[in-house]
Amino acid sequence: MKADYYETLGVQKGADEKALKSAFRKLAMQFHPDKNPGDHEAERKFKEIGEAYETLKDPQKRAAYDRFGHAAFEHGGGGFGAHGFGAAGGFADIFEDIFGEMMGGARQRRGSGRERGGDLRYNMEITLEEAYSGKTAQIRVPTSIVCEDCSGNGAKPGTQPATCTMCGGAGRVRAAQGFFSIERTCPTCNGRGQIIKDPCGKCSGQGRVVQERSLSVNIPAGIEDGTRIRLTGEGEAGMRGGPAGDLYIFLSVKPHEFFQRDGADLYCKVPISMTTASLGGQFEVSTLDGTQTRVKIPEGTQNGKQFRMKGKGMPVLRQPAMGDLFIQIDIETPQNLTRRQRELLEEFEKISSKENSPQSTGFFSRMKEFFEGISE
Ligand SMILES: [Zn+2]
Ligand SMILES: [Zn+2]
Repeated sequence: MKADYYETLGVQKGADEKALKSAFRKLAMQFHPDKNPGDHEAERKFKEIGEAYETLKDPQKRAAYDRFGHAAFEHGGGGFGAHGFGAAGGFADIFEDIFGEMMGGARQRRGSGRERGGDLRYNMEITLEEAYSGKTAQIRVPTSIVCEDCSGNGAKPGTQPATCTMCGGAGRVRAAQGFFSIERTCPTCNGRGQIIKDPCGKCSGQGRVVQERSLSVNIPAGIEDGTRIRLTGEGEAGMRGGPAGDLYIFLSVKPHEFFQRDGADLYCKVPISMTTASLGGQFEVSTLDGTQTRVKIPEGTQNGKQFRMKGKGMPVLRQPAMGDLFIQIDIETPQNLTRRQRELLEEFEKISSKENSPQSTGFFSRMKEFFEGISE
């Protein structure tokens, strides 16, 4: 057997709207699931008072209830049959309305003036060194924030937005048109359900003000070019207490002077002289960890040869692993020769054998033979 709605809310049968609301608020606060985690009895009670208030605050439903009791809302009852309380919709919204107001947000009903704030995009460029070590970036974002003076409800401090008398706060009105009853947005409040008589001076009743906001953004080590970081709820504040949008940080990593990146691996093209390549040698390259690493070149190193420096690449995002650094050899042919250098190279050429240049010696005759073989 269902408890009487008036008893549930602890009010007299003739209680006015204001008394109903204040009784509901008090009880809703007391039995709110956030305040009673895991308490099923409180949860049940919370639902009961929600249902009772939802019914009694609506003059038509209240009249039906006063006449028929709970039977008014049962299947085949007094004409309200299909309106289920348990379903998502009216029931959930009513708590949002009330709690929104209590939190100063004056959140609006579904489909009406509850406007979500816009998403913001922020382009950030970082260096490869910063992508390597990760960083906390301080950014300044021009955005709308909830107005402090009115806590976002748009009403002058000390006043409250009034419930729209045209639509009773529903934001929608019904108009009879022939046989049909058509629902449309309330023209008086533009669907907000509320009228602000004295708008807040700071935000002109918008509930939000534009302000540059400072945010710190954590850029994890190993982040890739083109990554989008989403900061939920850090976008523009909503209109009159609506939910905030999100802030998206579009991250790009500047091209590096010496390193090319492929995932966690780095590539570095190192030009070396023909003689170093031929005789062998060594050199040091700077790495992103701020140290130097020595690369040994064996004699007879060919152009394009790669040397792998293990663990000298980029950090792997959110993993304790490192990529590698690949040193790519780019042999530089001597140019602007002096007479003496030319003589020495000509001398060198004369005494060279097939063993010195196995790839190039006889290449053209081998190629010619190959194609003659095909044409025969
Ligand atoms: Zn304000
Ligand atoms: Zn209205």
